[in-house]
Amino acid sequence: MASVTLTGVHKKYPDGFHAVRGVDLEIADGELVVLVGPSGCGKSTTLRMIAGLEEVSAGEIRIGDRLVNEVEPGDRDIAMVFQNYALYPHMTVRQNMAFGLKMRRTPKPQIAERVATAAAMLGIEALLDRRPRELSGGQRQRVALGRAIVRDPAAFLFDEPLSNLDAKLRGETRTEIAALHHRLDATMIYVTHDQVEAMTLGQRLVLMNHGIVQQVGPPMEVYTRP
Ligand code: ADP
Ligand code: ADP
Repeated sequence: MASVTLTGVHKKYPDGFHAVRGVDLEIADGELVVLVGPSGCGKSTTLRMIAGLEEVSAGEIRIGDRLVNEVEPGDRDIAMVFQNYALYPHMTVRQNMAFGLKMRRTPKPQIAERVATAAAMLGIEALLDRRPRELSGGQRQRVALGRAIVRDPAAFLFDEPLSNLDAKLRGETRTEIAALHHRLDATMIYVTHDQVEAMTLGQRLVLMNHGIVQQVGPPMEVYTRP
């Protein structure tokens, strides 16, 4: 795992919209930080820049000591979990979980071992030969988590991972993510607009508004300050 550091980060989209306006942020190795704020404030853009899915217009992003501004998403050692799961429909759960490692030419026995370990951690061993369409939303999100875990990334990024789930599953999956954080000592950056999610998950909240960081602090402080 590794720290993630943003220094003076800006994003100006090609249409001229200035979505992120000078964000400074240091997320310690093993920390879980929740990015909150109203829709459109730049949370997702910030996360996507860390993942390398969106270019940085100005500023620097570091993962550990490494400056990653020009590093391709696949070489950033980051795993991202999306709200729509982004699973490959024609592949089984096992193949979905193994795909990233296979692309990186990880030896087969090692892939099998990592998939088995992650599946056990998430309680999805019985689903390994099924395809995504045969799974419930909650099961699909577990597979998406499994696919992130097997890569043993420097950091996990979550973009509203629970928003397609019903209330009960949201609670369960949130608990699962918190447990994974403790178990893996993982650096996690978690984007949500849901206050309950933010309050229960975050050790530290980062409140964004209009493309800047407005407040950083423990949940109680951020949500009670005027
Ligand atoms: P959040 O995740 O906080 O809801 P986003 O980061 O998705 O916010 O978006 C921030 C702002 O940037 C929004 O006003 C959005 O419409 C705008 N935006 C997002 N993507 C693009 C894009 N590709 N081109 C232009 N504007 C964009
Ligand atoms: P979310 O807020 O859930 O991340 P959005 O509906 O804001 O999703 O955005 C979906 C996609 O559309 C994203 O890839 C985003 O970059 C793009 N997008 C959002 N706003 C704009 C915009 N104003 N111009 C162009 N693309 C945009």
